[in-house]
Amino acid sequence: MKDYGMVIVGAGEAGARAAVELRTQGWTGAITMIGNEGRHPYERPPLSKHQLVDAAEPVPITILDSNRLIEQNIGFHTNDVAVRINRQVHTVELASGIQLPYERLLLATGANPRKLSVQGNAAKEMLYLRTFADAIRIRERIQPGQRVAVIGGGFIGLEVAASAVKKSCEVTLVEVAPRILMRGVPEEIAKLVEQRHREAGVRFKIGVMIESVDKEVGGEYVISLADGSAVRCDAIVTGIGAIPATALAVVSELEIENGVKVNEMLATSDPDIYAAGDCCSFPHPLYGGKRIRLEAWRNAQDQGTHVAGNMLGAAVPYSALPWFWSDQYDQTLQVAGLSEPTDTTVMRNLGDAGKLFFHVAGDGRLVSVSAMGPTGAFAKEFRLAELLIEKQARPELEALANPGRKLKELLRA
Ligand SMILES: Cc1cc2nc3c(=O)[nH]c(=O)nc-3n(C[C@H](O)[C@H](O)[C@H](O)COP(=O)(O)OP(=O)(O)OC[C@H]3O[C@@H](n4cnc5c(N)ncnc54)[C@H](O)[C@@H]3O)c2cc1C
Repeated sequence: MKDYGMVIVGAGEAGARAAVELRTQGWTGAITMIGNEGRHPYERPPLSKHQLVDAAEPVPITILDSNRLIEQNIGFHTNDVAVRINRQVHTVELASGIQLPYERLLLATGANPRKLSVQGNAAKEMLYLRTFADAIRIRERIQPGQRVAVIGGGFIGLEVAASAVKKSCEVTLVEVAPRILMRGVPEEIAKLVEQRHREAGVRFKIGVMIESVDKEVGGEYVISLADGSAVRCDAIVTGIGAIPATALAVVSELEIENGVKVNEMLATSDPDIYAAGDCCSFPHPLYGGKRIRLEAWRNAQDQGTHVAGNMLGAAVPYSALPWFWSDQYDQTLQVAGLSEPTDTTVMRNLGDAGKLFFHVAGDGRLVSVSAMGPTGAFAKEFRLAELLIEKQARPELEALANPGRKLKELLRA
C-alpha cells in the first residue's frame, strides 16, 4: 500500500475508534480525520440523559482529545466538510478547498435527525437532538415548571421525556404510531417503558396524527392533533428518528441502500472506500445476510474498530451481535439481536432485577433478547443470553422461562 494515507470523514464514535485502531494495528502512515462540529469526537448517549439534567454546566465527554491526537499522530480538520470524493484520483475535497489524497477512505458520517413536516407558524421552532450544541439548546429550554411536549416515542424522545420529568417539567409525549418504541423493541418491553413513564407523570397521546404546530401571542406553543385535542406547551422537542448522512456518498456515486451500502467487510461499492456506524447498512451473517442499519453506540464503536483492520487488508466479515441500551429514570432497557413480530416471546421474571424477554424464531433458534430492570441488575443474565444467541442455540421455551434454570447450563447444552 502506498502512503497516500488513511482519511476518515466524520469525527464521531466510529471515526474516532477507527483512527486509533489503525495505529494500534500498526499503520505508520498518515491518518487524517475530518470533523464538521468544531469539537473533538465526543460521546452522544449522555446528551439525552444526565447532560440535560445535571446542575453543573455540561462539557462533552471527549473520545479523542488533543493530547491523544498528537500522541497517535492523527491529523484533524476540526471544522470542515467533506463535499466530494474524486474516486479516480483518490482525493477528498473539503468545503475549505483542501484536496486530501487517500489510499483508503472511511465514511463515518453518522445520521441527522428526521425533520417533522407539519403545518403551522412554529413548525421551524421545534427542537431536535443530535449534537452537543443541540443538547445545550434543549437544556436551556427545559426549566423546572415548564410544559414540555415531546414528539416521538422512540429512544431519544423517551429519554428526553425522562430528563424533563427529572427537571420537574410537565411532560406530554405525542406518538403517531399505535405504540411507543415501534422500531426494534418488542411490545412487551414497550408496555413496561410506557408504564414507568406514566408512573412518573408523563401524559401520552398515542396513535394520533399532528395537524399543526403554532405559536400564539405570548409565546405558548399549540400542537393541534387530528382527534380535535391540542397540547399546549412552552417547548417542543421532536425525536422521530434519524436519516443516515449519505450526501457525500450520493454525490460521489457510491451505492446507497438505507444508508451507504457496504458488504460484510464494510467496504462500499468502491473497494478503497469503507463505511461504518450509523451511516451504513450492512448484511448480518447471523440473520441470513439480512441487510440492516443500526443507530447504536456499541455498533459504531465495534464497526469503527473492525473496519480499521479491513482498511489495512484483513478482509474479516463483521458479525457482532446488534446491541442497544437506553437509560430512563432508574431503569435500563437493553435489546440484543434482531426479532420479528412472528417470533415466539418467552418471559423470564428476575424479580427485583427486572424481566428478560427471549424471542425465538419459527425454527426454534433464539434470535433476540430484550430486558428492562434497575440499572445494572440483569447484566449477567443478559450477557449469557447474548452468548446463547451468538451460539445460535435452540433452548427449550420452558427452560428460558424458568429463572431456576441457569442460562450457563443452557449454554453448555
Ligand atoms: C442524543 C443521543 C443519545 C443516544 N443514546 C444512545 C444510547 O443510550 N444507547 C445507544 O446504544 N446509542 C445511543 N445513541 C446512538 C449513538 O450515539 C450513535 O449510534 C453513535 O454516535 C453513532 O456514531 P457514528 O460515528 O456513526 O456517528 P456520529 O457519532 O454521529 O458521528 C458522525 C460525525 O460525522 C460528521 N459528519 C457528517 N458528514 C460529514 C462531512 N461530510 N464532513 C465532515 N464531517 C461530517 C457529523 O457531523 C458527526 O460529527 C444516541 C444518540 C444520540 C444522538
